[in-house]
Amino acid sequence: MCALCRRRFIHGAAALGVAGAAGLFSSPLMAQPRRGDAASSKLPARGEFTIANAHVMTMDGALGDIPGGSVHVRNGEIVAVGKDVKGGGQKIDGTGMIVMPGLVETHWHMWNTLYRSFAGDKPEEGYFLTVARFGQQMSADDIFQSTRLAAAEAINSGMTFVHSWCHNVRSTAHAEADIRALAEVGIRARHSCGWPQGLPDTQSADQGPIESLARDWKSWSNEGLITLGMAWRGQFRAGPIKPEVYQPEVDNARKLALPITVHVASSRKAVNQIEALYKGKLMGKDVQLIHTLSASPAELDMIKETGSAVSVSPGSELRIGYGYPQTSEMLAKGIPLGISVDTSALVGSSNLFAVLKLARDCENAKAESEFKLPARKALELGTIEGARSMGMGDEIGSLTPGKRADLIAISPNALNMAVVTDAAHLVLEATGPENIDTVVVDGRILKRGGKLAALDTPKVVAGARAALAGVRERTKWR
Ligand SMILES: [Zn+2]
Repeated sequence: MCALCRRRFIHGAAALGVAGAAGLFSSPLMAQPRRGDAASSKLPARGEFTIANAHVMTMDGALGDIPGGSVHVRNGEIVAVGKDVKGGGQKIDGTGMIVMPGLVETHWHMWNTLYRSFAGDKPEEGYFLTVARFGQQMSADDIFQSTRLAAAEAINSGMTFVHSWCHNVRSTAHAEADIRALAEVGIRARHSCGWPQGLPDTQSADQGPIESLARDWKSWSNEGLITLGMAWRGQFRAGPIKPEVYQPEVDNARKLALPITVHVASSRKAVNQIEALYKGKLMGKDVQLIHTLSASPAELDMIKETGSAVSVSPGSELRIGYGYPQTSEMLAKGIPLGISVDTSALVGSSNLFAVLKLARDCENAKAESEFKLPARKALELGTIEGARSMGMGDEIGSLTPGKRADLIAISPNALNMAVVTDAAHLVLEATGPENIDTVVVDGRILKRGGKLAALDTPKVVAGARAALAGVRERTKWR
């Protein structure tokens, strides 16, 4: 394989989650200075440990729940799961805990977490205007501080994978800052490289940043933990975007073998947009569609036929008045579906358990039924189904021997839990960040005993506050 083909294979394979790609990155033979993971060398080592005697929710259809079960992890991989696992390494007592896969988040503008709850109550202080005005004043370091805050919050609240949907790439350095923040926190992620806020709809996004990253992705991937994608504006913004503007963006992503992600049919009024994508051959297994609230039955068929995945974000969709997601409709069609945070500017707390609960509640409200979407199905959307929707179902999303060790332990000792009744309902309906005792990403223990193990929380908070103050000062608004 020539160097170019090999490189394309590596980031194409990593982006699509082909098993084994991670191994390529972690081989000691390939060890070399990596710009994306200089900070991650400070992360805890991948050791060997066994969490014993927990209620294990594997989210693996064949393994099910295992009361009094154990999970044995070695060098980042799940070695064994079961009741009579011999285990090895450090013993972690899981008595009373619920152990499950870490949550898989599928679309989050982490770069604008600085503006948490800053979308106001008047049109002139709405979400889009707020993030556009502040976003245009952001330095690369502001992006770093914002994404690091989001990634730290993700780990703290039990997410082990996030999709950093970076649509404020003002320079290559801005995209690199987003990736460095993800690497420093140690979370598994996709960075989808987009365009700068304020870019006119008549202008194509500069392909310099994404090409620069793709060329040297190995040095940014944090040993394969982070994959690269393209965040695309699509065919519609305030009005239609011309093909000569959007087509080169898609063509370049496909030339680089990168997955594409796009907001489409966001509100009930945005009709026929999925059909337009379909007719333009702009859908496929390499394309993730965000929101798709106005999808008609015929458009749902188009999504199914092309193999595109969908991400819905009921927290932001309800908050901004887009309407209800079509979760049940997607599931009925067998469309790969994940759930997402979208933006802290609208939803405030980014606790994905709360968003999954909203996803369930929306379906029950629409159906006027207590029983429409089972709690376990909602949890699957946040784990195995979310992983499949990101093309990573063979790697993460369930506690299955051979998969990477991304898992969490929930302690029900706090007052908001206290009694363990039905595990799936309790986890979905009651879990908050304060209940997340342990978080493991790729075999690294990043939270233990309710405390972040590898991050200086006051430093993360102070950095974000200083960045916000600077942006507000430069923007001279609000
Ligand atoms: Zn979004």
